Amino acid sequence: MERSPVVFRIPMRTRFRGQSVREGVLIEGPAGWGEFSPFPEYGPRECARWLACAREAADEGWPDPVRTSIPVNATVPAVSPEQAFDIVRRSGCATAKVKVAEHGQTFADDLARVEAVRDALGPSGGLRVDANGAWSVDQALRRLKELDRYDLEYAEQPCATLDELARVRRGCDVPVAADESIRRAEDPLRVRAAEAADIAVVKVQPLGGVRAALRVVEACGLPAVVSSAVETSVGLAAGIALAACLPSLPYACGLATMSLLGGDVVADSLLPEDGRITVRRPTVDNRLLSEFTVESPSWLRRMQEAAQ
Ligand SMILES: [Mg+2]
Repeated sequence: MERSPVVFRIPMRTRFRGQSVREGVLIEGPAGWGEFSPFPEYGPRECARWLACAREAADEGWPDPVRTSIPVNATVPAVSPEQAFDIVRRSGCATAKVKVAEHGQTFADDLARVEAVRDALGPSGGLRVDANGAWSVDQALRRLKELDRYDLEYAEQPCATLDELARVRRGCDVPVAADESIRRAEDPLRVRAAEAADIAVVKVQPLGGVRAALRVVEACGLPAVVSSAVETSVGLAAGIALAACLPSLPYACGLATMSLLGGDVVADSLLPEDGRITVRRPTVDNRLLSEFTVESPSWLRRMQEAAQ
């Protein structure tokens, strides 16, 4: 028999979007479990897409995969060069994403961190930077030129707006990826219309599920990098399913995020091995689920409002 929706709360190992816990609702249907875990600030209209993703997982499951494993990147926060080197080496990943332009840091810090990551990866590794929209166009053009000494694969969201991204793209050789600019299904088309990016970072919950995200990627025509919204392995499995059925997957994906959570609701978490996550759908472990279950009428209400 299928269970009623379960609200979960899992502590974060590292603060994410200012939060120290990750919360959401898990729903069970004929095809398995789905995760509904929109971020706190999202209203019902936005949440409807996140719910569509959970419902697809629970009711229908996903299209057949065309690959058996997904290459993933290590993520390097704004840490010291020594720590950055260790994170990349320990990850076993051939690709790393380095956070730059963080508050309280200088560009010299960014340069030193990127250099350390290039050392750790070796010359053939993929090295991308993520500025989370923090640079002006002038800063982005100057800094990317300098950082490209270490051979950048691409720069994720160097500036905040589409117009700025387009100017950076025209003014430098480093490919530009749009991340924060893609939050809703119509956004990738705007990105393409503005010629603002070479690569689209896509997340399966905000786009409304695997099938919806596939349509968005096809319509937008840009290579896609599938990233997570820092879900449990239940939600992560949907991102893996999208990456597994995209016709082409030229870049490593941002799906190695289970290590950010202090627990999981499955026994065999979707963790990378040698820089890849095997395409599979782990089943919920009842003992782990009860460990992280909380009473939360407000989450159930949020889900109801998203359904309407
Ligand atoms: Mg990003």
